[in-house]
Amino acid sequence: MTDDRTMFGTICGGPISGFERIKTRNWFCDCVLLTGKRNHNGILSDIRYVDAENLGGTNFFIHSTSEAVVACNPNVWSPFVKDKPPLYFPSHVKCMVIAEEVIASHDSSERGQRSLMRHLWQVLEARWKQLDPLGRAPHKLHVSSGYYGAYKFQEMDWTPENGKEGEAKLFESNPVEIPSLNRAVLSHLNPLLSANPSSNDDPDEPTIKGLSQAISSLPPEIIANITDQVTPLNNPSLTPNYILEPSYWHASLFSGTLLPYLWDISETEISEEDGTAVGFDKTADGWDWELLAEQLAQTSIHERGKVFHIPLGLRNRRRIWRLVEDILGTEL
Ligand SMILES: [Zn+2]
Repeated sequence: MTDDRTMFGTICGGPISGFERIKTRNWFCDCVLLTGKRNHNGILSDIRYVDAENLGGTNFFIHSTSEAVVACNPNVWSPFVKDKPPLYFPSHVKCMVIAEEVIASHDSSERGQRSLMRHLWQVLEARWKQLDPLGRAPHKLHVSSGYYGAYKFQEMDWTPENGKEGEAKLFESNPVEIPSLNRAVLSHLNPLLSANPSSNDDPDEPTIKGLSQAISSLPPEIIANITDQVTPLNNPSLTPNYILEPSYWHASLFSGTLLPYLWDISETEISEEDGTAVGFDKTADGWDWELLAEQLAQTSIHERGKVFHIPLGLRNRRRIWRLVEDILGTEL
């Protein structure tokens, strides 16, 4: 159970300490400490994170150095402390996996990724500087979004029964290893004919069809330049225009470029019966991949009842992804 000493992860807002290790939420117990490394001029050079174990409250043990340290330690700023301790922010391991994926989707260069990680650290630092009036180490950082609902569970015992219809289950669902991810996503794929305006009497049909054919006849590198403009897809209209071929949407969905938060989606799945890989019978043609992609690209898909039903773990992943994007988009 959580209590008033519970430490909360700085990325997702879920608890790190005070939580028993049970199968469904083991990932809450696997944590790292982030710390900013400064060069001899005091300039922030790199952010590193180390595996750690929570010893209760803000106390942690770093495995690699066998050190006991305090996270979010206000002595970092105290004028009365001569040897200032390093500043550590705790996060779940899984949340850093997601943060790395978000950062990689924003910038493919190593230099750019290091810069974004520094920005993430600086935003956490800015949030943390809002210490309480007594200057105590805060066990949770205040986030204007309220961690998209998780914040209210920081105010009570954090149990699966909390909230409307066990809402806390969402926040404690493993956001990285998601059982039957492929099947859950592809279950929302509909036949193309039922939605494609080019198959009915839409007066725009010749125009859309003509444009689509004109684009299809362009050299591949020109098509790539056009499609680069729509990736990654973010909160598009839910009315597909069908200008690009279904094969484009199909390939882009599985390449990870269109919807980076689905980095591990695949066209095959391991069969539970015999452990072999099985393919899905839905191929590129004849299915409305464009509508599926646009639905999956809705920012609010992690909220209950929005767009369509997706597994809790995927909703939690999208929520954490959004939180990291909020951090990266925060100006200092
Ligand atoms: Zn977390």
